[in-house]
Amino acid sequence: MPGHYIKCVVEASFPLVFEALEGEFGNIYAKKFSGKQEAGVILGQRYFLRVNSDVAITIILKSIGTEKTEVEIISSAGAAGMMGMTWNAHKVFASEVRKHLDRRFKTRVENEISYFGTARAKAYLKKCVKCDREIPLASEECQYCNTKQP
Ligand SMILES: [Zn+2]
Repeated sequence: MPGHYIKCVVEASFPLVFEALEGEFGNIYAKKFSGKQEAGVILGQRYFLRVNSDVAITIILKSIGTEKTEVEIISSAGAAGMMGMTWNAHKVFASEVRKHLDRRFKTRVENEISYFGTARAKAYLKKCVKCDREIPLASEECQYCNTKQP
């Protein structure tokens, strides 16, 4: 069952953004990773009446310098009935996270993909920052010139 994907860049430091999202959406698990780059993952779920089920949210955060944070929001699961209907619950939940960010920080949406899944993620491409060739959206580095992607 596919989900809904939103990628945005927030004009605020990683700790501020992490804290804002952890408190509101991290009712399952939240973890920070420290290294050269700050990163974190937040897992949550919420009951949606329209599907009579819990819908899951996964938020992946990564610092871009000291005053910007990249946030990927993926809602999934919770489809109801034999037809696996989600009645737009995925989009609603993912958008709620984005709106929560919008209210606090300057936020820019870079990418939004409905019916998101691994196959679709592979089909989505972005351009390498250095050589400008098209590479898969999720790539950490370019497969042609090995440049790390922001
Ligand atoms: Zn490249």
